[in-house]
Parts: sequence; structure tokens; C-alpha cells
Amino acid sequence: MSLPSVDTIAAIATAQGRGGIGVVRISGQYVKIIAGEVIGKLPDARHATRSNFTDKNGDILDQGIALFFPAPYSYTGEDVLELQGHGGTAVLQLVLQRCLDLGARLAQPGEFTRRAFLNNKLDLAQAESVADLIEANTTEAARSAMRSLRGEFSIAIHGLVEELIQLRMLVEAMLDFSEEEVDALDLKRRSLLLSSLRSHLQLTLDTAKQGNLLREGAHVAIAGQPNVGKSSLLNRLAGEDVALVSEIPGTTRDVIRQAIQIRGVPFHIVDTAGLRESEDEVESMGIARAYQTLHRADLILLLLDASKGLTAQDEAIIAELPTDIPRLLVFNKIDLLGDSADLSASVPYIRVSAKTGAGIDELRNKLLEAVGWRDQESGAFMARERHLRALKLAHTHLLQAQSVLDGAELFAEELRLAQRALNEITGEFTPDDLLGEIFSRFCIGK
Ligand code: GDP
Repeated sequence: MSLPSVDTIAAIATAQGRGGIGVVRISGQYVKIIAGEVIGKLPDARHATRSNFTDKNGDILDQGIALFFPAPYSYTGEDVLELQGHGGTAVLQLVLQRCLDLGARLAQPGEFTRRAFLNNKLDLAQAESVADLIEANTTEAARSAMRSLRGEFSIAIHGLVEELIQLRMLVEAMLDFSEEEVDALDLKRRSLLLSSLRSHLQLTLDTAKQGNLLREGAHVAIAGQPNVGKSSLLNRLAGEDVALVSEIPGTTRDVIRQAIQIRGVPFHIVDTAGLRESEDEVESMGIARAYQTLHRADLILLLLDASKGLTAQDEAIIAELPTDIPRLLVFNKIDLLGDSADLSASVPYIRVSAKTGAGIDELRNKLLEAVGWRDQESGAFMARERHLRALKLAHTHLLQAQSVLDGAELFAEELRLAQRALNEITGEFTPDDLLGEIFSRFCIGK
């Protein structure tokens, strides 16, 4: 099963810096030779073996545990040796250099995982989730990356491909007959299978979107007049003082960003400069940037001062907001009002006080809802932009297939294209340059 690679790769697999343990990992056909030279013998397969790691004169560079995983039962599918020594930069370099001197070459980023992929140890979606797991910044993101690594996403994709193949077989068998011979019953079956496939694809897309949200986070811009409490709200949501709070209108001169998480979902929140006309050059630049930020956001949180209600200036800001981006209307400073005060806004709104914290939990829930997050029993699996694009493309081809239901050849062609899009996710049809790009973003040693 394992394909012999031309060369043997080695890298420090543990993070840079000092640590209790540091691991040098080697994979490829020279592993047995390197083990013989560095530790004097080949350790028993998969047995932790206490060893001295020596230089070419037999002097000890480090002492630790050696682990040998013979092909094909290893991470890469090749012979793999792990030298677990002390986690110091210099000592690890010595051990790594010793392996390089013996004929290994320094691994490129992600090269171990790339070999695992090429040797069918994981498919592409699983390989990507290895990097996502390492990069996950929230526990929820880590859990969902693990679900993808275990293969949940790939299984869903394989299920869809299976359904597609069934449908293709049904149609392609008929390509040999003339169109008139396709009877109503066949058309009905085609249509039923297609609509069931479409609904399954939609479900997978929805779950993948959730995973993508965990990976990428949502971009929220806070807009509103100076002094309505944008910085204070940002501080409240972040739980620390990041933005400058002041009573002089126009102090938030530039765009201030803060990454927070709400129930494990990352939010990149941006406090835009007070949106108002200004003579001040620096402030005007801030305002220009604020508008740019607004146009790139997934959601705009429009903040108003509850003690003033919806003012003409607010109306002016609303008129300037991009119409294609969803927005959430929030009245701040409700501590200055009686509980029952009617804010007479014509659209739904939320009442909060950045000062007292009132309404902040509800705001968090609304933010999650507004960016499309929903708690799911089974949990999301991690998915990347690339996967969403492929799923959407497959969806488009299925829609087109629907519109040419009775034209066997066109119908078959749309199904073929849909399958191709799905196969790209798991890596059955993936161009080399895309593979190169995916693995180059991994860390070295993975
Ligand atoms: P920004 O210009 O929109 O960023 O507003 P700031 O966050 O700098 O707040 C302007 C002023 O309003 C400051 O004096 C804050 O202390 C005050 N403020 C902010 N939020 C509240 C609130 O919920 N209630 C009250 N009473 N004052 C607030």
C-alpha cells in the first residue's frame, strides 16, 4: 500500500522553544539505517525504547525514547522513526542535523501529512483538518476539526457521491436508447432520486457552513454615532479594556479590532470610527476606513443611544449602510431609561447597557443567530472555504440537472460535474498545485 518515496524526510515535530520533551520525526526508506546509526539498533516496532542518540563518534547528543513504526502502519504509511528527547532548541537541532547528515532531508511544511494523503492514510478533507485542529483557537473549533479528522465530513461526502453514482447509473444506462423511450416512470424515479440527493447535499452544506464559521469566525462591524457607547460595548463583549472610552465625541479615530468568542464561535469585532462628517483630517481618514470595514462585514451592529432614541443623525448613518449586509439594531444606555420606555423603532431591536451589562447575554445570542450559528446535537464538522465552494458548485449542477430532467445527455453531464465537485473535497480529483498550496500552509514537522 505504501509507495516508496525517493527520499527520507526529517523535522522537529514539536513546537519551537523550550519544552519538557522535543521530538524529531523521520519518515522514508532510510529510517532503518538512520536508527542503526543514531541509536545503535532498530527498536522493536511500536515499542518505546530507551536510547542514547549519538553523533558519528559515538558521543551522546541526547537521551530519550525511540519509537519505530514500520510501513505501512505509520502516520505517513512509510517507515517512521520518532526520537523523543529533551525539548531544547540546540539539542533538538543536534539530533536533527545528525539525521540530515545521514541522508535525510529537511521536511517541507505539511510534508508528513502530504505523504499520509498520497499513501491513502487520510483523504484530503481529513488532511486539512489536521492543520485545522492544530490551528483551532477555540475548544469548539478543535472539536469540530477532530470530527472532520475522524472522517465524519468525508463520510457525508462519500454518501452523496454514492447517491450520485446510483442516479448516474440509472441515467447512463438509458443513454443508449433514444429519448422517446424514456418513459414517465423513469422520469419520476430520476426526479425523486435527484430531489433526495439535493436535500442531503443541502444538509451537508448547512453543517459545513457551521464548521466554516468556527474556523473563520464572523466579522461584525459596530457602527453608530460618536459617544453612543461603541467602545464601551466592545469592551463589555470582550471582557477587557481594549478600546479607548472617552466622553469627547470622535475619540475612536481608527478602526479597532477585537477577537472574542461566543460559545466557542470566533467573532472579529471592529469598532468603527464615529461615523460623522469631520473637518479633522485624521478623523476623516478614520471615517473612510470605517466605511470600508462596514462593506466587508458579515453583520453590522448599529448602535444607538437609548436616552436619545432614533435621531436624524442615526437615520443619516442608516441611509449610508450597505443594504446587502444584515444588521442588528441595538439601543445602548438603557440604564438611563425606565424599564418600560418605548424606543419606538419600527424594526426589531435589542436593549442593552454596556455600563451595567444588562441585555448583553441576549445580545450574544442574537449575534450567534444573526451570523447563522445554531447549536446542533451532533456538532459541526470543520470545513474550509474551498469545501463550501465545492458543495455550492455541486448544488448548482444538481439544480441545472433538475431543469434538464428529460434530456438524458445533458442530465448525465450535470451529474458528472456535480460528482467531480464533490470528489475535489476528498481529493480524488485534485490538481497538484492545489495540493501544494494546501500543504504549504501546514507547519514544518506535521
Ligand atoms: P463611542 O464613542 O461610541 O465609542 O462611545 P464610548 O464607548 O466612548 O462611550 C461614550 C460615553 O458613554 C462614555 O462616557 C461611556 O462611559 C458612556 N456610556 C457607554 N455605554 C453606556 C451605558 O450603557 N450607559 C451609560 N449610562 N453610559 C454609557
